[in-house]
Amino acid sequence: MALAHETVNVGLLYENADAQAQAFGYNRLICLPPDEYTTNVTLWHELGHVAIRIRHEDGDDVAKTSEEFCSIYAMARMPPEAIDEDRIPYLGQPGVPREEWPGVCQRALEYRADNRNYIQHCTELLQI
Ligand SMILES: [Zn+2]
Repeated sequence: MALAHETVNVGLLYENADAQAQAFGYNRLICLPPDEYTTNVTLWHELGHVAIRIRHEDGDDVAKTSEEFCSIYAMARMPPEAIDEDRIPYLGQPGVPREEWPGVCQRALEYRADNRNYIQHCTELLQI
């Protein structure tokens, strides 16, 4: 687990930021909006950016600038009962039940080891 021995700081998303939340992996920082509820799905996604940055620093093969990869990486690690949205950021709204999303994303990450089109593969399996 990439974040096991890391301290991740949480900052405020400034007013005119055009994202729901933002991550700064190099600084181990995520920024959340002070006046809005942040869903677990968004929180996992932002923490995913930090974890991916750490994996990159460790020399692992991760797509450190891909939002889709981050969403797949984060969803693969979510307990199904923590999923609190009907969509996956940057991927869309799956047609398969929520309980299946983490397993599908785990399989897509395995598929990525030998295939470049893992994002398309993942959205097909999720029926997006
Ligand atoms: Zn992101």
